[in-house]
Amino acid sequence: MANKYQRILLKLSGEALLGEQGHGIDADILDQYAEEIKAVQAEGIEVCVVIGGGNIFRGVKGATAGMDRVQGDYMGMLATMINSMALQDALERKNVHTRLMSAIRMEEIAEPYIRRRAIRHLEKGRVVMFGAGTGNPYFTTDTAASLRAIEIEADVILKGTRVDGIYDSDPEKNKDAVKFDTITGDEVLNKRLNVMDLTAFTLCRDNKTPIIVFNMNIKGNLKKVVCENQSIGSTVV
Ligand code: UDP
Repeated sequence: MANKYQRILLKLSGEALLGEQGHGIDADILDQYAEEIKAVQAEGIEVCVVIGGGNIFRGVKGATAGMDRVQGDYMGMLATMINSMALQDALERKNVHTRLMSAIRMEEIAEPYIRRRAIRHLEKGRVVMFGAGTGNPYFTTDTAASLRAIEIEADVILKGTRVDGIYDSDPEKNKDAVKFDTITGDEVLNKRLNVMDLTAFTLCRDNKTPIIVFNMNIKGNLKKVVCENQSIGSTVV
């Protein structure tokens, strides 16, 4: 059976990399994520990845403690590069070809982001990672994920989280929370559901890029969503 999606953008939060640790990057989680990505790439799917930086630094948090917001945001963007490099290493240890592209020039460690080049890498079967967010302060890596997905014409954004979809209330706090299998963008906005920040969400909605929120911490889930057409998680259409 043909795969439902040919080109995907996977968004992972920085915080997910914490695992059980209080700070930094959990090696087991990193390895598991690399394995998940490898399994999908092996099916001939073109894969891009955007990772957040929340496990290391967030500009907003710095600003709350008195730091200049823009300075803090650039620190956050650098944090995403550290996470991206860690995932790149984990993928390469599994013999997956990768390219890391950065929105901020740092050519010793990553290529500058050039859209056409990114697409070429994907066509050649390399996993392409987009680091340093959008390269601009006051944005998030969710927005970077939406922007890049639209630019490179990804079929879908897969938001890998630790919950298994979009609920009408926080399932970690409310045991009666109800999950949506499919939901429209309008409903997400009307019900004020927290899928992505508004800038990121609006970009997807205006450009008709579907978003699937799913649990990335369950082994094999990514492949089930992308290759096996199984209805896992929640899809925003
Ligand atoms: N950031 C930014 N511009 C971007 C993307 C990220 O300024 O385009 C900064 C911002 O400070 C943010 C931090 O990088 O808090 C880490 O990204 P994010 O909070 O999105 O990470 P996640 O929540 O996914 O771990």
